[in-house]
Amino acid sequence: MALDTAPLLEVKGLKKYYPFKKGMFSSEVGYVRAVDGLDFTVQQGETLGIVGESGCGKSTVGQLILQLLEPTEGEIWFQGKDVSTLGKSELKQARRNLQMIFQDPYSSLNPRMRVEDIVGEPLKIFERYSKKERREKVVELLRLVGLDTHHLSRHPHEFSGGQRQRIGIARALALNPKIIVCDEAVSALDVSIQSQILNLLRKLQNELGLTYIFIAHGLPAVKHISDRIAVMYLGRIVELADRDTLFASPKHPYTKALLSAVPIPDPLLRKERIILQGDLPNPAAPPSGCHFHTRCPYAQPVCETKSPELMAYGGGQVAACHFPLEAE
Ligand code: ADP
Ligand code: MG
Repeated sequence: MALDTAPLLEVKGLKKYYPFKKGMFSSEVGYVRAVDGLDFTVQQGETLGIVGESGCGKSTVGQLILQLLEPTEGEIWFQGKDVSTLGKSELKQARRNLQMIFQDPYSSLNPRMRVEDIVGEPLKIFERYSKKERREKVVELLRLVGLDTHHLSRHPHEFSGGQRQRIGIARALALNPKIIVCDEAVSALDVSIQSQILNLLRKLQNELGLTYIFIAHGLPAVKHISDRIAVMYLGRIVELADRDTLFASPKHPYTKALLSAVPIPDPLLRKERIILQGDLPNPAAPPSGCHFHTRCPYAQPVCETKSPELMAYGGGQVAACHFPLEAE
């Protein structure tokens, strides 16, 4: 991976706020800060993992990148261009290049459609193929994801969860995208099926030069596939580092708490753990200062009043904490 080339995707100061009325009889408006000022880049061919508890804004980031949502503030640059400045045909091209794989293929695949039509639908919309050409392309896509061609005329309910995820992947690949956002793509699958799908995604990445943004609520799901990992807490990135650095020497206590939930196979390697207390605070009324201070075992008075900036620790690692952890 050449790091000196321009990133394929760059997100600058990205925000998505959802307004809500503060009370039934009040006209005062509050905001859920679903995404609250994100900056990151994604290089061609890499996998960026995004992790954090449910409700911290991961899916919103994915939908903003895919142009399914309008940002409240900030910019998304794709292939060197600010997507908000693209004309109609350029935007259509960008949309083809940005695809998504969902957590639950059962609800994202139309149960009444046959596999041939599900996988062929994007081709029908975007390409001027004859029926025969379209079928040939669908057959090629099914082979690519490890499904048989005799599956063409079946419906989603005739497949297992893993097979349905393969159908979702084939559909996402139909238009030769550059970036695929995998939103909890393996979270609902059994562990053995998860690793089959992860292996398939890795194989496709090597063969097709794909770039992934891999979203999950826990670190185990992103560990093996990610080159770098961003940890989100209440709409913000609290730490971002390459995978090995993040696992070996996290700087943010929240990252360490997420790591503490990962089983360590060798008991001799058991490290000091942080067990997360309580639930994620309400994103409509996040805690003052460092959002994490209400659950942080190391919090000091300053953490309640001052929001920490992201600081660089070398090797591309950044973390937002007033009292970053020392390497163990
Ligand atoms: P995650 O994917 O990490 O679970 P989401 O991006 O789905 O988180 O949601 C982040 C926050 O934004 C949550 O508090 C959620 O309730 C809120 N949210 C998401 N979509 C909407 C919406 N359309 N209207 C209002 N609030 C929303
Ligand atoms: Mg989500």
